Amino acid sequence: MEYRIIDADSHINEPGDVWQSRVPQALRDRAPKMVTLPDGRVGWSFDNGKRVKRVGTAQSGVHVTQSSRSGATPAQIRPASYDPRARLKEMEYDMVQAQVIYPSMALNGLYSYADDRDMQVACVAAYNDWIHEFSSVSPERLVGMPIAPATGVEDLLLEWRRVANRGDRGFVIASYPNGGRYPLPEDDRFWAEVQEWDYAAPIHFGFLGDKPASAAGDLPDLGYLTAAALNDLGVGIYRPIADMIHMGLFEKYPKLRIVAVETGIGWIPYFLQVLDNSFLRRRWASGIHLKRMPSEYFREHIWATFITDAHGLDNRHAIGVDRIMWSTDYPHNNSNWPDSQRFLEYELKNIPAEEKRKILRDNALKMYRLDAAAASNAKEGADEKKPKGESIYCLDGCGQKTRPGSKFKPGHDARLKSMLLKLSREQVKLKDLPAQVQKDLKSGKLNAYKPA
Ligand SMILES: [Zn+2]
Repeated sequence: MEYRIIDADSHINEPGDVWQSRVPQALRDRAPKMVTLPDGRVGWSFDNGKRVKRVGTAQSGVHVTQSSRSGATPAQIRPASYDPRARLKEMEYDMVQAQVIYPSMALNGLYSYADDRDMQVACVAAYNDWIHEFSSVSPERLVGMPIAPATGVEDLLLEWRRVANRGDRGFVIASYPNGGRYPLPEDDRFWAEVQEWDYAAPIHFGFLGDKPASAAGDLPDLGYLTAAALNDLGVGIYRPIADMIHMGLFEKYPKLRIVAVETGIGWIPYFLQVLDNSFLRRRWASGIHLKRMPSEYFREHIWATFITDAHGLDNRHAIGVDRIMWSTDYPHNNSNWPDSQRFLEYELKNIPAEEKRKILRDNALKMYRLDAAAASNAKEGADEKKPKGESIYCLDGCGQKTRPGSKFKPGHDARLKSMLLKLSREQVKLKDLPAQVQKDLKSGKLNAYKPA
């Protein structure tokens, strides 16, 4: 399929039975249940009613004058929030060809299922199985993000390998890999492994459960509006990103990539200026001597998504046009659905076509390997036949073969398959393939793909 616009951050609203139908029987009583609250709005009940959280964000398509901070009514939750076929239709209304899809309640839900490990791990696996099935309806258009357990690095790695092995294209973490709000040495086991994967690790706003300071208490309206604005400003993400840079994470793991999701982008140039200045003034006092400037690590390792950000777009060159990805936030109430095109036309009107393509399509296409997914799903059965032989390659110009025995290169494998498929259909000639592939095809080390 041909992509024109890719949405790098959208959401589902979890269907009412996602946990009740999937967690082991013994845990069901305490697993999250969807409930209708006395005011007719929808909420999630945790741990047998000990806590209730309103579904506050499912209001795409509801006119702004009708939206409420008390959350959504059942009628306001669009079926496209949880039904993949309805979703594809609503993407068409908005003229968006593919979406990267995060959870809503489960985004930070790993702090709220219950206190015990078994419940946390079971709920995470249940969600991940559901979103995998959701995405499987159209893998080249629906990029569902699995979530991570917050019960320690061991559990995290087990779940991470499970989803990576079945070809999911990301894994959103809501805390440091140890499950807490502060980094620990044991996190290294995860960082070392994730940097070898094809995809970046996304951190969505709300990472670490950080809530912007706001006036709540007796002034809930004020608290709501201030917190929402500060979230839009990306404030919750400043601390973890500064920590990651200052603790030398990217020095230690030079291939690690992080996507800051729904953080906006306008803050980035100023943030980098401050980090650099602070580092130069305080490196001796802090005892932290990075080899390069903080802004250099940021520019190489961090991507960010925005919904609407005219200031960020004006300053796109100070951020890096290759690092910015547009998003809808559908079906949350930050979204311009189904009028995204109108907003894009206005906000990107002065941006050259080549840069526009990167922001609206190419950066996400590359990050999530959607070109490979589209090619390998273009023909029935194309995925079933693996090329004979052990070799899989990085075909993106790094020139390196995948580590022998690595299980974590699904994108590389898919890309190779799609090239071999094109060769078999005579859509490309042998001489158009990378030199190493040509060599291995000629020597018989690699077999050309033969459609069934
Ligand atoms: Zn989001």
